Order: sequence, then structure tokens, then C-alpha cells
Amino acid sequence: MSILIKNVILNNQKKDILIEENKIKQIDNEINSSVEEVIDCKEKRAILPGFVNCHTHLAMTLFRGFADDLTFNEWLFNKIIPAEEKLTNEDIYFGSKLALIEMIKSGTTFLNEMYFLKGLSGSIKAIEEMGLRAVVGITVDDANFEKVKDFKIPQKTELIDFSIAPHAIYTASEKVLKWVKEVSDKNNMLIHMHLSETQGEVQECIEKHGKRPINYLNDLGFLNERCVFAHSIWLNNEELEILKEKNCSLVYNPCSNMKLASGVFRFDDVRNKGINICLGTDGTASNNNLDMIEEMKIGALLQKINDINPVSAKAEDVLKAATENGAKALQKKTGKVEEGYLADLIFIDLEKTYFNPGFNLTSDLVYSANSECITDVICNGKLVMRGKRIDGEEEVYKKIKEISRKF
Ligand SMILES: [Zn+2]
Repeated sequence: MSILIKNVILNNQKKDILIEENKIKQIDNEINSSVEEVIDCKEKRAILPGFVNCHTHLAMTLFRGFADDLTFNEWLFNKIIPAEEKLTNEDIYFGSKLALIEMIKSGTTFLNEMYFLKGLSGSIKAIEEMGLRAVVGITVDDANFEKVKDFKIPQKTELIDFSIAPHAIYTASEKVLKWVKEVSDKNNMLIHMHLSETQGEVQECIEKHGKRPINYLNDLGFLNERCVFAHSIWLNNEELEILKEKNCSLVYNPCSNMKLASGVFRFDDVRNKGINICLGTDGTASNNNLDMIEEMKIGALLQKINDINPVSAKAEDVLKAATENGAKALQKKTGKVEEGYLADLIFIDLEKTYFNPGFNLTSDLVYSANSECITDVICNGKLVMRGKRIDGEEEVYKKIKEISRKF
């Protein structure tokens, strides 16, 4: 497949972009090449890299609005976990499809997924069908360890890579974490885990192991550049030092952290340390959507009010967290619109009211826009949304209504 994008706005300039196979082949002032498809943007569209959502639980779309305004423990242990026990692989397939439709519409092209092993084939099928790029977690904790130990890791595909995903240090014991590290080393797999999300989790770790979570993991020899930790809220300076030294990536989940009143991520401290900050929505049971533009705005504003400093978490920094930093954490050459990068791209409708007068697109995108401005999405060199339309969405909504009745 080859696509020629004509007259598109890239970094404030009119450009032509040639996509061949799944990569950005050429960016120039004018390109004339015979291709299968030409998209003429007539200078009314800007192009950006697709967003990289670094912490998701796709099929939690099934629990959107199902358990709101509850304490963290009541939310997780009394509502979400019992409902999740009823899920089948087919439910997870449809729940994931709903999430992926929502993600495409809001400009996400790459996601870091973690959900139940029992629904793994359902999530994989949904991601392949919708054509997004993903790292899918093989989830493990004390409860399913015996099963996972003998589990054969599926073959990676052009779009899907696999990580090993221990749920958290309070559900995966030392034995499991050591096994995770071994598997990750042996297969060069990313590790995706919830970490230091609540004060209670840190307290419990100190009581059980006599040390804070990062010291605990460091002493297990667990930390390296393949670790991607969600939430990572309750970290002290010594822990930040270790995370920097070990090159771990942290995922900022502002909406979920606010909704469950978990705490505030130390954005500028983490950034100033030189630690890679990514952005993620978490699942829709704790957000309640998958909109990365909204996540950027809320994420920036939360930092400013928390620090009582309007300079905290600048628009360019949150946009970077939502794109190239995520790609770096997930180790794929995407997240930038540059020659040689993967063609994971979104088109922005510059005719929207909120892009006027148009001093600074980054600032407008983070503070003024909403995802309605996204018109078309390309992932891996293929159009997955064309003129705001995605094939088969109505059927998915119908099926979701049916499934939701059992909760
Ligand atoms: Zn999560």
C-alpha cells in the first residue's frame, strides 16, 4: 500500500508526505509519485503522530459507569473483580472492540494493554481486526501463576508484541516477580505493571518487606529499561534516583489517579530527573474514557494546581509524553512524523473553531481541542478511520448492550 498525503500542515509548514508499506518514506515540499491513494489536505489538515496510550485495560469498557464514586478498595474488590469473574473470552473480544473504536476516534494508534489471560485471544483478535499497534500483556499474579508458567507465549505479529504483566506487587509475590524477570530477560519482553498507585500499597510493602516498593524491586534485580510502570505516584527522591539509574519508564494516568483519589504523579520531578514519562488512560472503569487529548489537558492542569505553578507540565511536555515517550518505552520507531518512522498518523481538522487564530498548534491541541478534531487515522500505513467513519461500529454497540445485561 502506498499513500501520498498532499498539502498537509506539519510543524507549521505545508508539506507532502509519502507512505510506502508501513513507513513514512519521504517528507518534502512537493512530492509527485504514482501511488494507490492520494489524500489532498488542501492546507486544512495538520498531521501528527498517533497517540501512544501506555496503560490500558481494553475490555473494561464493559464496566463504564458501572462502579463510580466508590473508595478504591470497594471499587476494585467489591465491584470490579466480582464482575470480571463473569467475563468470557467473547465478552473481552467485544469489550476490546468497543475500546479500540473509541481509541481510533480519539487518535490513539499504539497501546500498552494488560487484561485477563482468559481473554487474551479475544483481545488479540480485536486489535488485529481494528488494525492498531499494541503491546499485549501476558498477565500473571499469585492466583494464575501455575497456569501461566506453562503458557506458550503467542507469536508476535506485525502489529502485536507481547509483554509480561504482573498485576502489582500486592497480588504477585516475590516468587512470581522473579519468574517474570527471568522470562523477560530470556525473551527480551517488556514488563508492564501497576506500581505505587496508593499510599496503602506502599505501606503494605514496608510492613511485609521492610522497604519501599522500588527498593524492594531493585533488591530483587527486577528493574531495567524494559520496565513500564503505571501510576507510580507515591515515589520518594531515592526511588526516583533508582528509576533513573535503571532507565525505567513511568506512565502518568491523571484521570484514573484523580477519580480513585490515588494521589498526584510527580510530573516535573520525574521529568527533571530525566526519567521517561508516558501517558495512559487506564481502563474505562476508572477514567471513564480513552481520550488522550482530554488526558493531556487534565494531566497538565492537575500538575499546575498541585504545584500552584502555571509553568508545571507544559503542553509540549504532555504531548511528548502522549507520543514519542510512549513509543520509546514500548520500543517501537513511531511517535514522530519523520522519514523512516512507522506510518502511525492522525489528521487534525484545522477548521474547528478552537484552532483559531492558531498561534500554536501544540498549545491549542492540549488546552483547547477535543477529539472531534480528528478526521482520519493511519496505523501501520493503513487507513483505520476515514472521514470519521470506522467499519462495523453499530454492530459492536448492539452486542455490548447485550453483554452488559449480565452485570
Ligand atoms: Zn490499570
